[in-house]
Amino acid sequence: MKLTIVDQGIMTKNEWGQLKQELKKTVGSNNFTTWIAPLELDDVAGEVASFAVPTSFFGNYVAQTFGDQILYHLRAIDPSIRRVNFAVPSTASNDPQAPRRAPAPRPKAAPSEPAETMADTRIPTAPLDPRFKFDTFVVGKPNELAHAAAKRVAEGGPVTFNPLFLYGGVGLGKTHLMHAIAWELQEQQPGLNVVYLSAEQFMYRFVQALRERKMMDFKEMFRSVDVLMVDDVQFIAGKDSTQEEFFHTFNALVDQRKQIIISADCAPGEIENLEERIRSRLQCGLVVDLHPTNYELRLGILQSKVEYYRGQYPDLMLADGVLEFLAHRITKNVRVLEGALTRLFAFASLVGQEITLELTQDCLADVLRASERQVTIEEIQRQVSEHYNIRLSDLVGPKRLRVYARPRQMAMFLCKQMTSRSLPEIGRRFGGRDHTTVMHGVRRIEELSRKDVQIAEDIELLRRTLEE
Ligand code: ADP
Ligand code: MG
Repeated sequence: MKLTIVDQGIMTKNEWGQLKQELKKTVGSNNFTTWIAPLELDDVAGEVASFAVPTSFFGNYVAQTFGDQILYHLRAIDPSIRRVNFAVPSTASNDPQAPRRAPAPRPKAAPSEPAETMADTRIPTAPLDPRFKFDTFVVGKPNELAHAAAKRVAEGGPVTFNPLFLYGGVGLGKTHLMHAIAWELQEQQPGLNVVYLSAEQFMYRFVQALRERKMMDFKEMFRSVDVLMVDDVQFIAGKDSTQEEFFHTFNALVDQRKQIIISADCAPGEIENLEERIRSRLQCGLVVDLHPTNYELRLGILQSKVEYYRGQYPDLMLADGVLEFLAHRITKNVRVLEGALTRLFAFASLVGQEITLELTQDCLADVLRASERQVTIEEIQRQVSEHYNIRLSDLVGPKRLRVYARPRQMAMFLCKQMTSRSLPEIGRRFGGRDHTTVMHGVRRIEELSRKDVQIAEDIELLRRTLEE
């Protein structure tokens, strides 16, 4: 009989080499080449595995994006590792002559010890972004409800709504708010077991537990949590066994009156391929959405970032009107807006120039072009029916009364002008009308706009609102 004893205590560079290959399967080969292959295992001391990285940006990125997976794999070999650390080697430790610290001896598990006792009952939490706190979150009309709800949950009082369900489009601040809650709770009640993870990480852990036959540990781990946050839950839609497990975890925690916070890119009712019972469970608590940003909020966010940059670039000169210009032009999402500002400041400090409108247009030409407003047919229809105070169903429906027909023509006109859709396509979206009907409508509005001031004003107003 052959007996293989897996050495549970030592993580060697060699083993790291093999682990990397494991990681390649989960992160994909592009990510692997860029981010994982360059990682060198530097040292394992106590609970911490340290890796050498070329730059601190690299380190931060890897920690945020893959830290969790790396830790998971490491722990499969050496469960005493609880944290991973990515650091740029100081020049001293780069020196091959310099004495190296020997890894601290760690107790090895006796072979007879049952594996369960070694399992860590705390979940390694995904790293929280230090920038994502309440004091850096700018509140405006589009996000004030979500912010207020998040604040309330962060007080950590008795659970009043469960779950808190935050939803909204990409880059509108869902993750920021969730991290802010976690930071605040950890600060107020350090003993609280707050777990934040993405739905993808949830699934990853679940699959891993299945594969390693550690479902009991998995269940126990999640059920001992005080506050559970699952980000981007739409990810588990269509993934049946993960949904099932999520549902049980969810119910177990709700029964224990533990707070759950969920985010998704759309409302619970709109997530496709989500089991009905999960959907209705998710709707049981408080559902709040983050609306697309408006001009004021974007400007507010830009101003607060500028405050921050002033610390980094003390000589910074910023011409009047630049922030307003950006808030007008970059409407897509906050992430894009932030990226643009970062690039602008880095560029201006590099060339040592004042940030003027001209410099901005030069430096951000591609971003500005890409975020030229892409208005959709739906938006136009919604806006027009609101403007004329008629129902959307009447706008696209068959009624031919002037009160419906004129707004319909207006909407068709705007669709032709503001989107790149063809006439037949526009027709289809207006209750399956023929392209000649659309053409007639467009012409009619063109004619009217020349002689009817009211129509001309309507066009102008609608166009401006849609471009916002
Ligand atoms: P989501 O998770 O909704 O896709 P994030 O929370 O990751 O979006 O936000 C994207 C970026 O925009 C982050 O850097 C975040 O800090 C920033 N951001 C979003 N909303 C705000 C806000 N109201 N105030 C300040 N920063 C914001
Ligand atoms: Mg997010």
